[in-house]
Amino acid sequence: MFLRELTQDVTILKGTGPSTIRALANLGIRTVADLLLHLPRDYEDRTQLVPISRFSEGKVYTAARVVSHDWFGFGRMRTLKIIIADESSEAALLCFNRPFLEQSAPVGATVQVYGKFQFKYGEIQSSSFEIKRIIGRLSPEAELSPIYPLTEKLNQAALRKLVSIALDKFASHLEDELPAKLREARGFLSKSEAIREIHFPSSLEHVERARTTLAYEELFYFQLGIALRVQSRRAKTIERGPCPGMLAARLRERLSYTLTADQVSVLAQIVEDMRKPYPMARLMQGDVGSGKTIVALLAALYAVERGGQAAIMAPTELLARQHATIAAHLVEPLGVRLAFVTGAVSSAVRPPLLAALRCGDIDIAIGTHALFSEDVAYKNLELVVIDEQQRFGVLQRIALYRKGRVPDFLMMTATPIPRSLALTFFGDLQVSTIEHLPPGRKPVVTHLAREDRRASVYDFARQRLAEGRQAYFVYPVISGSDKHDLRDAESMAAHLAKEVFSEYKVGLLHSRLSDETKMEVMARFASGELSILVATTVVEVGVDVPNATVMVVEHAERFGLSALHQLRGRIGRGAHQGYCFLVYSKELSEEGRDRLKALYTTNDGFAIAEEDLKIRGPGEMLGIEQSGDLRLAIADMRKDFELLKLARHDAFGIIESDPALATPGHAVIAQVLTRANPFSES
Ligand code: ADP
Ligand code: MG
Repeated sequence: MFLRELTQDVTILKGTGPSTIRALANLGIRTVADLLLHLPRDYEDRTQLVPISRFSEGKVYTAARVVSHDWFGFGRMRTLKIIIADESSEAALLCFNRPFLEQSAPVGATVQVYGKFQFKYGEIQSSSFEIKRIIGRLSPEAELSPIYPLTEKLNQAALRKLVSIALDKFASHLEDELPAKLREARGFLSKSEAIREIHFPSSLEHVERARTTLAYEELFYFQLGIALRVQSRRAKTIERGPCPGMLAARLRERLSYTLTADQVSVLAQIVEDMRKPYPMARLMQGDVGSGKTIVALLAALYAVERGGQAAIMAPTELLARQHATIAAHLVEPLGVRLAFVTGAVSSAVRPPLLAALRCGDIDIAIGTHALFSEDVAYKNLELVVIDEQQRFGVLQRIALYRKGRVPDFLMMTATPIPRSLALTFFGDLQVSTIEHLPPGRKPVVTHLAREDRRASVYDFARQRLAEGRQAYFVYPVISGSDKHDLRDAESMAAHLAKEVFSEYKVGLLHSRLSDETKMEVMARFASGELSILVATTVVEVGVDVPNATVMVVEHAERFGLSALHQLRGRIGRGAHQGYCFLVYSKELSEEGRDRLKALYTTNDGFAIAEEDLKIRGPGEMLGIEQSGDLRLAIADMRKDFELLKLARHDAFGIIESDPALATPGHAVIAQVLTRANPFSES
């Protein structure tokens, strides 16, 4: 049977009393399969004797004689020191909190000692060691001993025993899940060998071989799930009307700039997809300010030209409004009919608006997720564009994707997807990248400022304001509270307006304001009436005010890396140099420092995304920790990239060349493993 079919309760194993059962449950272990998949985090290697003199090569494992007992320290701190000697050397064992060793390792006895030694204070010593009295000779052990993640009331020995019982009873019945051809071609172990070896390996090389086998298998099924989905999407044939691109060409003529080479080529990829007989699923990534909006708008015109509708969804009302304004200016003169759809649309306007969408009197609908609320229907929705996709919850995306017939699907993100995630979480999307920003952009200058240097940050901002520029001040929370002593947007807006920049007008923007107020504040800032905008991360995405050149982020260490990069992308969008100050508190965690350093050292969104992945891991980075996506038990997205590529290659290869190999059984496993993927269609 397959490993995951070992659903028997662990209680069937000998030696599982109620307290053990509870301890196992704490570790998430309920079934035999859970137990066998509870993998060691490390191993103890006693397969070779390592005498004291070779302590620098690893842990010492030797038989030694107890030479003498010493005591050092006073009173309760009094500590036993045991001097031992093997054939190679003498060493000291510092027995902190282990006075009882005086009895169990008396002078003259022979003991086996296992532990890490170092040279300190003129002697070879260890304070972390195992010691046991022995009679006769010491022989190396045949296998490494696993070190498992533990919990209270459960020790290594007990867990080892249980695993070993489970292995004896079940391992030999384990069937291989990987198709045999593949397993042989790639030289992987059988399932039962791999499971046995990862628990009780005979060498570290064997551990690696076993881990690679299991990790590959996991990645393979993950990829097979993706491959099957891609296949099923491609099996749908849609009739496409002709779209020569006349409308888009007319828009391009109307632009005040020419598209960059990257924009042109990404648009070409999108248009090519939109001519295929199956729906597009493409991710357009490009750093903040790289000009994704216009590409999406041009793509929408292709859909419109052949009589379809397009929907462009933004994560916030603010951003949706901005898109709508830009679009109105650009495409309405071409006779394209636009609609703005948000939750805030008044009840008087809503029925006619919905009717217009339903009967096809609207060509392009722009809005928030309200574009896909229950009562909204489209006559012929051909293209869905999702801007700043990382801001949408997984569920929203699912709901969206399931609505009506499957439209072409274009997602946009300024948080570049690290390569490993592009192949897993986003594995059934084609990816297009705008690598270069439009010409003439100056990279933002980033400074890290400790909070006690705040005054000079203010001075710097004042100079820029005096030159007619504008500034953002961003805070992590909206209002003050007893629960934290963070600077908050509300009080800081008042403070900056009264005490610091009294000669300038200061606006306040955060998510608790009504949508009208938000629009109004944003409009006043965009027009230059307000010089300073105090805000929370609502300004993180998309907002475009080219005259704003200063960004001050307080408590910067509390923001995610990608969020900071996004914030920074709000400035330096015009002709003037942009400056970003990341103000951090004196007590900064190591992780916080790494994060800020990454931002300081690079302006490259891709590098930042990779760093973010390293620091936070995929779940947190994508905001999917709870959803169960990407819960890879064995493979490590950060380490196993090559293996991932191999698994992807093999899985897609099977689907294409030898579908018989991907038996229904495999398809089921694949489906189970990728169940929670937001792009699954069923
Ligand atoms: P993002 O990719 O972050 O969504 P936008 O689409 O908002 O970026 O574009 C940022 C700014 O760059 C906008 O003001 C837009 O008009 C401008 N822009 C887009 N493409 C070009 C181009 N090829 N040359 C010059 N400016 C451009
Ligand atoms: Mg944008």
